[in-house]
Formats: sequence, C-alpha cells, structure tokens
Amino acid sequence: MGKGLGGGSSINVMVWARGHKGDWDHFAAEAGDDAWGYQSILGYYRRIEDWQGAPDPTRRGVGGPAYVAQPQAPQPIAEALLSAASTIGIPVYDSPNGKMMEGPGGASIAELRIRDGKRQSVFGSYVRPLMSRPNLTVLTDALVTRLIFDGKRVTGVEVLVDGERRQFTARCETVLSLGAINTPKVLMQSGIGPEDELQAHGIPVVQHLPGVGRNHQDHLAFGCTWAYRKPEAVGGSGCEAKLYWKSDARLSQPDILQCQLEFSVPSPIETGLETPEHGWTMFNGLAQPKSRGRLRLSGPNTNDPILIEPNSLSAPEDMAAALTAVELCRELGNSDGFMPLVSGETAPGPRDRSGMIDFIRKSAVTYWHQSCTAKMGRDSMSVVDNELKVYCIDGLRIADSSIMPRITTGNTMAPCVVIGERAADLIRTTHSLPNLIGGLTQSN
Ligand SMILES: Cc1cc2nc3c(=O)[nH]c(=O)nc-3n(C[C@H](O)[C@H](O)[C@H](O)COP(=O)(O)OP(=O)(O)OC[C@H]3O[C@@H](n4cnc5c(N)ncnc54)[C@H](O)[C@@H]3O)c2cc1C
Repeated sequence: MGKGLGGGSSINVMVWARGHKGDWDHFAAEAGDDAWGYQSILGYYRRIEDWQGAPDPTRRGVGGPAYVAQPQAPQPIAEALLSAASTIGIPVYDSPNGKMMEGPGGASIAELRIRDGKRQSVFGSYVRPLMSRPNLTVLTDALVTRLIFDGKRVTGVEVLVDGERRQFTARCETVLSLGAINTPKVLMQSGIGPEDELQAHGIPVVQHLPGVGRNHQDHLAFGCTWAYRKPEAVGGSGCEAKLYWKSDARLSQPDILQCQLEFSVPSPIETGLETPEHGWTMFNGLAQPKSRGRLRLSGPNTNDPILIEPNSLSAPEDMAAALTAVELCRELGNSDGFMPLVSGETAPGPRDRSGMIDFIRKSAVTYWHQSCTAKMGRDSMSVVDNELKVYCIDGLRIADSSIMPRITTGNTMAPCVVIGERAADLIRTTHSLPNLIGGLTQSN
C-alpha cells in the first residue's frame, strides 16, 4: 500500500484500467441502483478523463482531472504482444479502455497516468490544485485510530498527530478512505464489525456487521519470464501492453489479466527458478478470482497489525483458470513474433499438469489490488448501501476499494477514482452543495 498522499496512486505502476462493462453492471445489480451501472459510469469517465488518444465521444472524455495517455513509441516487446495475440485469434484494439472492455477482451497498448515523463498521482490531479482553499486542510503524519460516536452516529475521528491523540469532529458526516486493509481495521477497532471478532479482543460492539473484513479479493499473478537476446530499453511505467481474455469461452467476460512488464520480475525463491539478468515478464493473473479471503484483528490497539488471510487459489475454478492463463502466456511468449527479441523462456518452461500446479502455487504473488472488504450491497454481508453509507450507522460513508462487491477486471486505481467521484456526488446531493470545480460550476 502507498502510505502517503495519493495512497497507491503515488507508488503504483500508473496503469489506467477502467473495469469491464460487466463489472459495473454487477455493482449496479448488487447495489440495486443503476447509477452504478456501466452506462452511468461511462458518464463519470467522460467527465473525469483528460484522454490524449483518438476521440471516442461515447466513451472517452477530455479536459477532466485524470490525464491519461498511451506511450508514444512503445518498445518492440509491446508491439510483439499485439502481433502474437492476433496470430492466435485474440483481437487487437487501439485502446484497452473502450470497446475492448465491453466484450470478450483483447490486446492493446496500455494507458498510463504519465505526463511529460512524470507520475500523475490522484492527489496531484485532484487535491494539489485546491490546496490554497481556506476550507481545505491536509494533515500529514496523521494516523486515524478510531471513529468517535454519539450512540450510533459517527461524530468524528480520533487521530494520532506527532504522537498526540487529537479529536476532529465532523459537522456533516465522516468519510473513511483508508483502503481495503485499513478501512476494515479502523471500523473493527471502533466497534463496527463481526461481533465475535470484536468481543474476542475486548472491543465494545457499536454495531454487529458481519461483512466487515470479509469478501477480501485481489488479483493473483504468476510471472512468466523470458530472457532477452540483448538488453532492451524499458518504456512507459515498465508496462506498455495489456491483454484480457477468457479461460473458458462460456464466460460472460474476461477472467485472465495480463500486464506485460518490460523487465524480469524475479520468481519467488520457492520456485527455484533463476531470473534472467535481461528479460521481460508476462505478469499474468486471475482477473475474476472466485476465492474469498478475510481480514482479522490481532488486537484492539492501533499498533496491532491486521491479519490478512487472502485464501487465494482455494476455489478450484481459480486453479483451472490459472492453468489456462499460464499456457496462454507460454503460447504467446514462445511464438514467432517474439523470437527476434528473445533467447528463451525462463519460467515456467514446459511442465506436466502437476508441475504446472506446483509452479502456480509457488509463484503466485499479489497484484496489489486488495479490495471488497466492506462491500456495497443488500445482503447480510454488505457493509455499505448504494449511497456508500455504512448500514445501521449515521454520518459515516466509505469511499475506497473496500466497497467493491466484486473486484474489477483489471487494475483497480481507475475504479477507485470513480468510487471517489460517486461519493462526492452523493455527498453534494445530500447536503445540497454546488458542484464547484476550479471555482466554476460544472454540469454533469
Ligand atoms: C505496488 C502497487 C502497484 C499498483 N499498480 C497499479 C496500477 O498500475 N494501476 C492500477 O490501476 N492500480 C494499481 N495498484 C492498485 C491501486 O493503486 C489501488 O487499487 C488504489 O490505490 C486503491 O485506492 P484506495 O483509495 O482504496 O486505497 P489507497 O490508495 O491505499 O489509499 C489509502 C490511503 O489511506 C491512508 N491511510 C491508511 N490508513 C490510514 C490511517 N489509519 N490513518 C490515516 N491515513 C491512512 C494511506 O496512507 C493511503 O494514503 C497498485 C498498487 C500497488 C501497491
């Protein structure tokens, strides 16, 4: 996690991946609210993007806070992925964020949050331009420790600032945006969560909400690597090409996610595989994992670390999809299109089924897309409603990756920006606030 202003967006790989049509329609179905559906969310993307590529007025926006561009001259290895994909019948698109994410998937040059060689963090795009406003205070080195209540109403937060406990009260409402690990931690340590979990740590229960910390999801990656014949330059953020595809034609949307990395990612030591000095990686993974994990407290205090049980690969469907995903990468990476650049495959290499399962289990690493741990929905395990309000509690919303009912198909930053935008709209509506951006009223 990125511990600082901008969170993950200040340390991540800067890939802009908006999610599949089916993801947003699933959000809408779970929330019982079409405002979360794909057609509505396209409106958000049109409003927030400053898209630098070919115009697509239905799907893309220009002039918004989120500068998004493709690399101008992708490295040969990125172009090789596109030609390899097309030779095996995977369609190639101009953009991974337009039509490609409304169907079975495809391959495309990636879209990145890089401008003139510099990272565009979400903090830099949204908050820094407003820092001179008198009604905005940004406090760094400040750790939120718990919520403060008046009965079941949240009235503010307790914060550690320079080792001193301070309280900040909210006139209207409080919004937690601490990410999918720390939002559930602060909720539980404040008394909102599964009552058995809270009682086990002596935390007085304010509200029993069994879904807090459950439903943990992440994309899992298995790095398949090849050695270059000679050192090659690394372009963009190190990732310049993307591929999404289905492990089974009967699926309604892609379940394989692949970011092509233009350097060799070392396999975990357990695999016993050497990393080539000069190489590249298909960071290949599960876009729609079925396994669900959970978060538990190790204690009631701020310094007690949260316990993360990802439970990855516990669902048999995930291993089946992983086997297909690795074989797809091997087929692509060992195809003729890559041969001028590549001297050979270094991981995993040819293996029988049990050898491949062993590779998958030992090489699996996080994509750093933790989410879904305080999900939006209407069942008993839901934590927030369609307006991101925490059930049975007044004056508290959540706006971060923890509210996703199901992880989006692709990297998770852009969907988190949309969640933030939705939260802003909902708060504006609740409190009859004008829509002020840069001092001008902007229509939706
Ligand atoms: C290494 C890495 C690479 C990634 N690459 C990509 C990529 O290329 N593209 C992409 O789309 N996604 C990527 N992601 C994922 C993406 O960055 C996250 O999904 C996204 O940032 C999540 O947003 P969030 O608001 O839920 O939480 P976060 O971005 O984690 O923000 C939470 C914020 O809350 C702060 N915080 C937490 N606890 C407290 C507390 N108790 N008190 C005060 N502040 C607190 C944190 O410091 C942080 O600033 C990557 C993530 C990582 C870590």
